[in-house]
Amino acid sequence: MATNSAEGSGKAQGGGTGSARVVFRGANLIDGDRPARPNMTIAIRGERIEAIEPDDGFPLTPADEVHELHGRSLMPGMVQSHFHSHFGAFGDGVRAPALGLEAAPAYLSMLAAANAETALACGFTGAIGSSNAHTIDVSLKEAILAGFVEGPRYLAGSREIVTTGEASDYPNNRNFFMDLGHTGLTHAANGPEAWRLAGRTEAGRGCDVVKISAGPGHGSSPTFDVLYPTVEELHALVEATHKLGKKVRAHAPSRTAILECARAGVDIIDHADRIDEECVEAILEAGSFVVPSMLWSERFLELAESWDHDATPLPISEGFPETPDAVRARIRGVREDFDYTCRAMPEAARAGVKMIVGDDYGTPIMPHGDYIPEFELYVKRLGIPPLDVIRWATRNGAEAMGLADETGTIEVGKLADLVVVDGDPLVDIGCLADRSNLKAILLGGRWIKNELDAPSRRGPSA
Ligand SMILES: [Zn+2]
Repeated sequence: MATNSAEGSGKAQGGGTGSARVVFRGANLIDGDRPARPNMTIAIRGERIEAIEPDDGFPLTPADEVHELHGRSLMPGMVQSHFHSHFGAFGDGVRAPALGLEAAPAYLSMLAAANAETALACGFTGAIGSSNAHTIDVSLKEAILAGFVEGPRYLAGSREIVTTGEASDYPNNRNFFMDLGHTGLTHAANGPEAWRLAGRTEAGRGCDVVKISAGPGHGSSPTFDVLYPTVEELHALVEATHKLGKKVRAHAPSRTAILECARAGVDIIDHADRIDEECVEAILEAGSFVVPSMLWSERFLELAESWDHDATPLPISEGFPETPDAVRARIRGVREDFDYTCRAMPEAARAGVKMIVGDDYGTPIMPHGDYIPEFELYVKRLGIPPLDVIRWATRNGAEAMGLADETGTIEVGKLADLVVVDGDPLVDIGCLADRSNLKAILLGGRWIKNELDAPSRRGPSA
């Protein structure tokens, strides 16, 4: 595991609340770890949390800026851990030759800035990039740190390292004849030395997390139990990337891909549709995080299973033309995978696998900003307790970013990355979906949003 601490608390994200101490009273405190505690006071000085005490007897001073929360929930800012920053330009029916080439790089960059702002407005004070073209993520992170783009603490994703000819090698599949000079968000490499070089190249360009394609399937296509790279290729890339202090994340839906990625020390295992006991053991041994990201599969099945395939081709294709029967077979495969994952993922969570949240937002049926239905899926369909889903989104997300000592839970001394919610997400996690319920958002003690009543100053001598 890479253990270098991530950047992400630059001047634009610090600064705090100014000279006055900000005090929240009457909070239903959801600290990202323990069960909720009612009637709590949380004091913030500058960018950090200074005190957490019961309301009764908390010593206010005349200079304190006091916000009465009247039982509203105060929780840590969340971490969006599978963030395709520039996704969102697919919706016009025009087929891109490859992902990352669906619009001009400048347009995609603006989309990335808008999506980062959206994530923060949804209460996500951290995000981890997934596959990404044109080093947009590196520039996005830089722009956020410089303070001219508003966004969460950020780990930049990389191009996705693929092997030639596999399903994710878009430029060499259906559109090979275009002989594309720019391959969008993929980076094809073959052989251990080429994979080592690919990891070094992406890391060298400033990416914090190198994304690889480890196996087929997930979402709109069924899994097949193969590992795309060789074990040697996989290990060479992970070793080289970790040496440079960067993390590795893998698209790994198949059992063998999950298992080999964990054995290789991949930091974040994406999707993990076919996770089983042996995978869980290897993941626990490696300390890897898992992103179940099941909303894309659920949304795809909702659309695909009710589609009249004889009348109109399903708009979400696999690239090459398919007969209606082939499409139906593909959908049945996705259904089998999804039903399996619904059974296996809660077991993996109970066994102690560190889950984090995030999905392929920005694809046509998954708009950026619509992040909470994923939480509801875990609670309602998988039976995961809401407190656990909140832990995945806060404490675990911060740990996956390498920021466990700085954020992710509400503790004295940590950065004040906070959200005030009109509602109790442990009773109805769906209350986080309506942005008007997010009454306040703070990033390192700085107000991103404040729709609370005017504060009072009522210390002992006031
Ligand atoms: Zn993805």
